[in-house]
Amino acid sequence: MELDVKINKQSHLPLYRQISDAIKLSITEGRLSMGFRLPPMRLLARQLAVNRNTVASAYEELIADGLIDSHVGRGTYVTEAPRDGDLLQSADAAPAKMPWEGLFAKSFDGPAVATLQDLFQVGTMEGYISFAGSYPADASLPIAEFRNCINHALRRYGRSLLKYGATSGFAPFQQFLAERMNKAGMTVQPENVLVTNGSQQALSLVAHLLLDPHDAVIVENPTYSGAISVFSSLQAKLVGMPVDGHGMEVADLEQAVARAKPKLIYCTPNYQNPTSGTMSLARRRRLLEISRRYQVPILEDDYGGELRFAGETLPSIKALDRAEQVIYMSTLSKSLIPGIRLGWVAGPVDLIGRLIAVKQMDDFSTSPLLQAAAFEFCRRRYFKIHLEKTRRLYQRRCDRMLDALARYFPKGSVWNRPTGGMFIWVWLPESVNSDAVFLEAKKLGVLFSRGNLFFIDGRGQNQMRLSFTTATEAEIEKGVRILGRIIQAFLKKSKQPRYFSTGESLPLV
Ligand code: PMP
Repeated sequence: MELDVKINKQSHLPLYRQISDAIKLSITEGRLSMGFRLPPMRLLARQLAVNRNTVASAYEELIADGLIDSHVGRGTYVTEAPRDGDLLQSADAAPAKMPWEGLFAKSFDGPAVATLQDLFQVGTMEGYISFAGSYPADASLPIAEFRNCINHALRRYGRSLLKYGATSGFAPFQQFLAERMNKAGMTVQPENVLVTNGSQQALSLVAHLLLDPHDAVIVENPTYSGAISVFSSLQAKLVGMPVDGHGMEVADLEQAVARAKPKLIYCTPNYQNPTSGTMSLARRRRLLEISRRYQVPILEDDYGGELRFAGETLPSIKALDRAEQVIYMSTLSKSLIPGIRLGWVAGPVDLIGRLIAVKQMDDFSTSPLLQAAAFEFCRRRYFKIHLEKTRRLYQRRCDRMLDALARYFPKGSVWNRPTGGMFIWVWLPESVNSDAVFLEAKKLGVLFSRGNLFFIDGRGQNQMRLSFTTATEAEIEKGVRILGRIIQAFLKKSKQPRYFSTGESLPLV
């Protein structure tokens, strides 16, 4: 989705009308859909080189037409397509198209649902130096080994892999996952494990099972956008806990839990996505204690626990759990191959039984063929070798990025030093807006994830998440240099530059 606003300063039509007409047309022609977030007035005004009040008048007009809405903290976003027959009828009186925008369920309304689309769309764009995607380097995808494993699995298990599989998972793979978790200090039987289509599905299944509309969920703030989207789509009320270098801060957690009475606490304790901090042991224990006292389950998202390249390995929260309070989820997407879509969730048998019912409504089962091939990969110890190679590769790339940041980013920028995972989180000087940096960087062939995509309350405007896994070392050097220059230019110019001429469109992702 792109916002395409062109204005003509010579036209007799007032500028605010030109802007509101352009946005109205994009909405009625379906180029901007419900939930799409319009740029902040200040940013659009700067980009179009008009006064902020001009954009304010345009937005007011659209609000009066019921096409957009504005909320403090959520920004301004498209509400729905107009019902007005005139707007829907084309000039040659072709029949009005089905007004789909008005038919979608309320739960998929709102900007939070669109943030994951933003993140995924940018993360999977080709042809750029990308610091946006959270997935393995192309070079580390083990194509030949995986081909062997698929062939072997088909020979060994035959047609059974081409039928519907058990919803809970391919039994040898479940067994492997349980053993692996037990080695990491958890107490898990195969029947405690449900294999899912990526851990995104695990997150969604758990949320669907536990949450009713308006239930509160405690999340780290910032947190993984995919979680914000899932919880928001279920109309959950998100309660954010601040994050520092040791993950979720727990000082005020008890008070927050007592006040909000949440149904769930969601956290990413290893290499917190997006800030990369790892939750200390003391905090893990405190979190468990509060969860037990208030009987609130914890959803532990261990998306990248295997990707440690420095520091000590801490026990997962699940490994510390003696009272079945923790639902644990993880994935092969980051440590092996994202395209096979294999994740899993582990928890008490009663809960897994219910999750199986929810999954059946979703997709019956995860591909038996891919589970069997993945099991084969792990059984042959390809996995161990692959993980060691991947960790070394990521450490090199991370070091290279840290080094480049130190050389090219201006004074006043701050970043963390990860001990694993995939990301470096950067705080830019206050005056630098990462949306604007993004627009400029994209033009120069570099992508990253804007900080505000990870906050539940629109903050993070001067923050950015840089993934060091996908780009090569040479690309990291070049990409960080380009970003550094753009940020320097922002800082130097007292009057901020126009980021695109009035004839260009504003990319939304
Ligand atoms: N959790 C976190 C923290 C993630 O970063 C991601 C992917 N970006 C997921 C879950 C879901 O990934 P997948 O479905 O590929 O396992």
